[in-house]
Amino acid sequence: MANAQMLLGKSAPEALEVTEAAREATWHYPSFVAELFMGRVRTDLVFPFPEQDESDRRIGDEFIIRLEPFLKEHVDPDEIDRTGELPSRVIEGLARLGCFGMKIPKAYGGLGLSQTNYNRVITLLGSHCGSTTVWLSAHQSIGAPQPLVLFGTEEQKQRFLPRLAKGTISAFALTETGAGSDPSNMLTTANPVEGGEWFLLNGEKLWCTNGPVAEVVVVMAKTPSAMVGGKERKQITAFLVERSMPGFEVVHRCDFMGLKGIQNGVLRFTNVRVPKANIIWGLGLGLKLALITLNAGRIAIPAGCVGTAKRCLQISRRWAKERKQWGASVGKHEAVATKLGEMAATTFAMDAMVALSSALADRKTIDMRLEASMAKLFCSEACWRIVDDAVQIRGGRGYETAGSLRARGEAAIPVERIMRDSRINLIIEGTSQIMRLFIAREALDAHMRIMGELLDPHESVMGKLKAALTACGRYVVWYPQQWLSWTWWPRAERFGPRLAGHVRFIERTSHRLARALFHSAMRYQTRLASRQQLLGRLVDMGGDLFAMTAACAKAHAMTRLQPSEQNPVELADLFCRLASRRITRAFEQLHDNEDRQAYRIAQEVLDGRIDWLEEGIL
Ligand SMILES: Cc1cc2nc3c(=O)[nH]c(=O)nc-3n(C[C@H](O)[C@H](O)[C@H](O)COP(=O)(O)OP(=O)(O)OC[C@H]3O[C@@H](n4cnc5c(N)ncnc54)[C@H](O)[C@@H]3O)c2cc1C
Repeated sequence: MANAQMLLGKSAPEALEVTEAAREATWHYPSFVAELFMGRVRTDLVFPFPEQDESDRRIGDEFIIRLEPFLKEHVDPDEIDRTGELPSRVIEGLARLGCFGMKIPKAYGGLGLSQTNYNRVITLLGSHCGSTTVWLSAHQSIGAPQPLVLFGTEEQKQRFLPRLAKGTISAFALTETGAGSDPSNMLTTANPVEGGEWFLLNGEKLWCTNGPVAEVVVVMAKTPSAMVGGKERKQITAFLVERSMPGFEVVHRCDFMGLKGIQNGVLRFTNVRVPKANIIWGLGLGLKLALITLNAGRIAIPAGCVGTAKRCLQISRRWAKERKQWGASVGKHEAVATKLGEMAATTFAMDAMVALSSALADRKTIDMRLEASMAKLFCSEACWRIVDDAVQIRGGRGYETAGSLRARGEAAIPVERIMRDSRINLIIEGTSQIMRLFIAREALDAHMRIMGELLDPHESVMGKLKAALTACGRYVVWYPQQWLSWTWWPRAERFGPRLAGHVRFIERTSHRLARALFHSAMRYQTRLASRQQLLGRLVDMGGDLFAMTAACAKAHAMTRLQPSEQNPVELADLFCRLASRRITRAFEQLHDNEDRQAYRIAQEVLDGRIDWLEEGIL
């Protein structure tokens, strides 16, 4: 517990205990990002850039060649946005193409696409229609296929996966009105009856994507508490619930700012009888299953963001060239040109980060929890800035709907819809704030293992002494290493004059980041949890370093294939310059900032002492 308190605070010990018990405690495989936070740049994991192998690329190409014309011909994103419906012929067509089984292994009737190919498809979809992307990714990135493939029994896989691959739609139901970022608050219950052979499910789930149309829903519910170490512990269990089960009701379809075509709703369960055989993984393992499913599945979000960013870049490029004001294309005016340059450089880094993360996932020998979360956090935030820039570059037309543009004879460029569709990426499958806390928790795991007992107020003096000796032994080697500036990166010069400096910066800065993390843990100890801004800055620096690594490795690989092509190097160089400036600023702000003052004022706002500022409004 002391370990977790360091990061999650003492305010909600039960939630903390439940969440901590549900996290993956062991690291079976290495992680590039986890090592980065420990001051080690594992070049062997990312260099040379892991290009997709030829046969896998061909599989992806063949699928995309079939999907592209279907999307162009049948999926009209503005019509879907206007009507709020994905037409049934679109859903049937996508099912015929195998889109609902992309991630389901071939043995169960799916396409068995690699993560790289799946993400290529999601990027393509993300460039075209947000609602369609979410229909497909909610079904297989987090819906029933993902937990079934990861944790289902053979019988469950045989029973469900072939149906799901053919187009039986599935959903993932974790959130409730009182349980958002903190799922341990959930109220939905599943109580055993008839000697535990059946469970009676009761409760309501909120915002369940695909829920209103899903035939199969993975529902997380509280089962009776268990005694763990003499203490009662809340149990959450995952159930495969079928729409056909009596007592299953869709009570509301939600309507949002964007993604108008998704089916998302409130599901109510009243005494739904679910057989024990529909429990996935085991009793009490539901929250762990949900967190692991999200850890693996959330990599689809950055892939979709890459598609959106590329589309915005394309729109902005065309408009910045075509639109003339003050005697020149707006793209010739510096204020617009720099936006466009930064959009291109950031899109390149996002693309490289997603390709790298996908390739690492395909190896199946890398712990992906940090890579996927980092890609989700970085790409969703970068994408939002890119969309915002695209709106700005389009000027008034960026704010006008595609329908209105078309009605008055202009090209129906849907930047307004893209903006509405993209905002959710910073919220679903872990908000940016929760992603930062999650990444910080995992990044600090190695230190927590060493220092946990030392900081535990319940530990005996002998225990602490033993822990202190272990910590000394561990840090006596590790800590001085973080002050040495030699580079392990195989000859940074091979990256060429433009990138070698950035590669050295990544190495040096990972040491500095590791020191900062370590010093913060020592300084704040169990109070570290409340220093969310400090942790957030450290996490963001790690995100930029990861993106820089991906961009440099990708640019290097591209120019090796085509030595005359210097554009990738230009893009990686610009991205790295921008990112290293952000990192330098973030280091300055680590201990020189206005966090405390802003926090104090926020408490005054919350207490109503600054209500006078809200005068003069309706
Ligand atoms: C379109 C859409 C689709 C969705 N699809 C699904 C789905 O398919 N299945 C499903 O189960 N759920 C789904 N959700 C729910 C989604 O995952 C949640 O909205 C999300 O987890 C955040 O929960 P919340 O909205 O209750 O925010 P809250 O948890 O109430 O958070 C409110 C704010 O406080 C911040 N915050 C919360 N806790 C902390 C903390 N400890 N420290 C710092 N900041 C904090 C959050 O970042 C946020 O800014 C969907 C939601 C939407 C809108």
